[in-house]
Amino acid sequence: MDLFPYEPRKNQIAIIKTIKNTLAAKGNIVFESGTGSGKTICALAATLEFAIKNNKKIIYATRTNAQQRQVIVELREIRKKTKDDKDRIFGVGIQGRSNMCLLARNDPDFAKGTSEELSKICANEKKKARSSKSGKDEGCIYFRNFIEDKNKIGSALDWMRQNLPTAEESIEYCEKKKICPYELNKLLVRETPLVVVPYIYVFESAIRNTLFDWLSVSKEEMILIVDEAHNLPDYIRDLFSLQLSMWMIKSCVMEVEKYGDPSMVDGKFSVSGFCKLLIDIVGDLRDTYVYNILENGIRRGSPKKSDAFIPSHEFETEILSRLGITSKKLHDIIGDLIAYGEKIQEYRQKKGKLPRSYLHKLGLFLEFWTNLDDAQYSKLVVDAAQGKNPRIESYCLDPSIVSDVIKKFHSSIHMSGTLEPLEEYRDSMGLPKDTVLVSYPSPFPKENRKILFVRDVTTKYDEIIKDKKIIQRMQGHVSGICNTFSKNTMVFFPSFNTLSMFQRNGSFDDIKRCLYVEEQKMSQSALMDLVSEFKSCGQHGGEGAALFSVMGGRISEGMDFPAEQLEIVLIVGIPYPKPTARQRGLQRYYDLKFRKGWEYAVEAPTARKLLQSIGRLIRDENDKGVVIILDRRARRFKKYIRDLEESKDPIKDVENFIDE
Ligand code: SF4
Repeated sequence: MDLFPYEPRKNQIAIIKTIKNTLAAKGNIVFESGTGSGKTICALAATLEFAIKNNKKIIYATRTNAQQRQVIVELREIRKKTKDDKDRIFGVGIQGRSNMCLLARNDPDFAKGTSEELSKICANEKKKARSSKSGKDEGCIYFRNFIEDKNKIGSALDWMRQNLPTAEESIEYCEKKKICPYELNKLLVRETPLVVVPYIYVFESAIRNTLFDWLSVSKEEMILIVDEAHNLPDYIRDLFSLQLSMWMIKSCVMEVEKYGDPSMVDGKFSVSGFCKLLIDIVGDLRDTYVYNILENGIRRGSPKKSDAFIPSHEFETEILSRLGITSKKLHDIIGDLIAYGEKIQEYRQKKGKLPRSYLHKLGLFLEFWTNLDDAQYSKLVVDAAQGKNPRIESYCLDPSIVSDVIKKFHSSIHMSGTLEPLEEYRDSMGLPKDTVLVSYPSPFPKENRKILFVRDVTTKYDEIIKDKKIIQRMQGHVSGICNTFSKNTMVFFPSFNTLSMFQRNGSFDDIKRCLYVEEQKMSQSALMDLVSEFKSCGQHGGEGAALFSVMGGRISEGMDFPAEQLEIVLIVGIPYPKPTARQRGLQRYYDLKFRKGWEYAVEAPTARKLLQSIGRLIRDENDKGVVIILDRRARRFKKYIRDLEESKDPIKDVENFIDE
């Protein structure tokens, strides 16, 4: 407990011991410890002590910038405790290039760039700055200052070492001093034992290689911590999935109209002709598999789907047969598209524009699609915007695609407040069978939390269609609770669709409370304003308010509501994944690989979403609150929510709980 800065709770001592043992054995650990139980400080204190003693580096991967800030805040607490030896306690928070590149932040065109595009701009700007003759202002000014003003850099490094800034604070400091924070971090990461990064720095190969070059140590000398690890499998699936939308192909056509339309395959057709053919094929695949339109133009069955599987080689077979070419020719075309796209990128960059080429992206997509491993991917056609922008998609099923990277670290620590079943996470991520799996009980008094469910309602589609009164009863429960208790109440729905259906039904009219509703496309700052207004309604003896939100969203997965900021949570329905083709593919994949399709692809993610929403309620030992799940299917999750009880009269049960 040398570096632990607080009075430790019982479970924190246990967590630290287990992490230390795992590090000593060069092992891996997956652990769950309830929200608010202090996982971050435990992982940090235990690994930092080991890293300093054994000359290792820690890569702490977070999903959000808020989590990254929290790590730096805890690091400052550790440093306060070790004030005699504080130089050893040091860490750097790094964010994506779009946040850290000051040139991009101050240029609206560059600000939209991907990390690959910004990296190209940066390399070019640095080259210009290096070769600029004295007195000439060429290349990035933040880099010029960086290489020319050694005193400024020296004092910036000292400021960083002394103040342990968050990434946002160091960007602000560098902006004032007009030096590049990205370059400054490159220098700092060599000397620090701790680097806090977004997931992408570990799991995207080009970005990872850049980071590891800066660090100049092998992976065996590094310890990986994955925070909020329940997000990682989906994050990896998204990172390794690729899409080709109708909008993107049309952007390719616009690109050739602007930059020239070369001919392909010995002059048989042009690039624009090839793109238009792809537009036809994507539209036809959507009509055939999503809309079920037969060759004679008649629709078979209901078109309620939003996606469908495409037979493995159908897309490329259609290209070959409609153009009358061989697969070898198709690969030549792909090579030509990539080469032409690179020329466009160079041309745009010379003109001071974002080096973006849709043809380049198209070439890379086709190359990827024609080479991918069918066992790890589903090929889909998706129509998510009512016919406006259909797309084809190669959806990655297998997050263990990154397991080789994880296994090379000295040790890896995966933690979350909601990670059960731990075997599922271990198997999905392809971690070794001897990975330590531990679930720590909540350190907070059991009597402070009550979790109820009712049997008379459900959001199951078939049942709602059969019994129209279910929705009325559901509305009655929501308005009954909201109108009876003047306490801050959060109402979580399985999706924005269900929330807006509830709103359209006029359900809000019966609620006589101050109401806040999260909207799907709300900006982060608007959402933060909404949340802080809601929080203030419950404090200082206020009347309390109701906030309507969704499970698996920004509020339920990451925000804290201590004490009176939240005392009642209503969960309207069970957040099962939609039965899309993508979801069916995932379930089939887990059935084939582990014989646990339902458990791993449906039950586990649903339980995590429920537990994340429940987890908003109790953040420390003094918090008290009650959760009511409005769905009879809740009892299926008893093994994940052990204190779940049935309620025949939720208003009375909540009253009794509050009185007690
Ligand atoms: S040197 Fe820094 S500020 Fe300049 S382009 Fe590169 S990342 Fe951006």
